[in-house]
Amino acid sequence: MNTETGNIYRELGISDNVYQFSREILDSLSTRFCEIDKTAEYNQLKVIKAMQDNKVSEACFLGTTGYGYNDLGRDTLEAVYASVFHAQDALVRPQITCGTHALALALMSNLRPGEELFSPVGKPYDTLEEVIGIRPSKGSLAEYGITYQQVDLLEDGSFDYENIKKALNEKTKLVTIQRSKGYQTRPTLSVQKISELISFIKGIKPDVICMVDNCYGEFVERLEPTDVGADMAVGSLIKNPGGGLAPIGGYIVGKKECVENAAYRLTSPGLGKEVGASLGILKDFYQGLFLAPTVTAGALKGAVFAANAYEKLGFKVVPNSTQSRHDIIQAVTFGTPEGVIAFCKGIQAAAPVDSFVTPEPWDMPGYDSKVIMAAGAFVSGSSIELSADGPIKPPYAVYFQGGLTFEHACFGIMKTLQSIVDAGLVTI
Ligand SMILES: *Cc1c(COP(=O)(O)O)cnc(C)c1O
Repeated sequence: MNTETGNIYRELGISDNVYQFSREILDSLSTRFCEIDKTAEYNQLKVIKAMQDNKVSEACFLGTTGYGYNDLGRDTLEAVYASVFHAQDALVRPQITCGTHALALALMSNLRPGEELFSPVGKPYDTLEEVIGIRPSKGSLAEYGITYQQVDLLEDGSFDYENIKKALNEKTKLVTIQRSKGYQTRPTLSVQKISELISFIKGIKPDVICMVDNCYGEFVERLEPTDVGADMAVGSLIKNPGGGLAPIGGYIVGKKECVENAAYRLTSPGLGKEVGASLGILKDFYQGLFLAPTVTAGALKGAVFAANAYEKLGFKVVPNSTQSRHDIIQAVTFGTPEGVIAFCKGIQAAAPVDSFVTPEPWDMPGYDSKVIMAAGAFVSGSSIELSADGPIKPPYAVYFQGGLTFEHACFGIMKTLQSIVDAGLVTI
């Protein structure tokens, strides 16, 4: 590798062997990458059209303070989100602190005591366990007399229609469907699969609210859950739709009534969407949404590269090297804590920020085991930026995601390969 590019990789600590191994894999993936770029092209145009249709102007970037009445930028941004997701309404706020908060808000505002929440796709994301009260927690839905039922996916990852039908009852008010695998090694659900599930459920109980936890799924496909019958889709702005620029925030898009309920819960009965100053951060929300389709595409290509590299080295990867993608997460199962830790060290060492620190496993709030996280992010905790995390428990899988640019995602993966080679876990 006596090219300029090869030289700078060497200066950044990538051996000739790791570079060569990576280069060959990347060169073999051009057809896959081209398909991802075509989806990004469609989604980019979808976002631009939504911005034009809703007459986004420079005045939208001015923030309000205090109550935030008549905040043009906030109201227009919500109209843009509603257009992008082909939904009736949207709540997109910096006052929604993270994805868990957005999901908790959507659930708590649309469920009443005596009603039941149902997950037909197995255990929800770890932090939702406390929201629901699966793990007893102050302020959980369980404390308010809202019950919960769950039906797991079948062994092969498909829906257990028979038991789903049995679980639906007169109390079932809201069905929560998690699109992404989260910290599990089950497959992520495609929008098509979500569509089939919603049709089945609505066929039995037409008035039930179907909510999709859309975290990490935005702009990966051309359709979103709200295109196929979801009453609500919910996510975090420090993941895909914030495009790496949003410094905080969450969104809920969907049926007018569902969004309204969420707004009354976020602020106050009687106030709803009318208050909530945007301060000075709307430009980043708009610009982040504008960049989100291409940022997501870069992250996806990085994930495809990772799957191919680690599969070639003999590790179990989900999705595998050839499967279609429905979120930006790549799971790699190492089977040992050392593998998870070495991988995360590689991601950290590739970061533009904090590359010199060493990540260590720690007891993170909301999780039931130690978790190691690698991130050198411009926005703290942002996982649309190149990041990796893994709970230190069997099967010792690491979850990798993000990269604001494809080039950075590639470099990050090369650093992980180098790190596991240097730790003596594989030879390349
Ligand atoms: C990240 C994530 C959440 C929670 O979002 P936070 O912003 O970390 O609170 C919920 N569900 C899924 C599937 C996620 O990936």
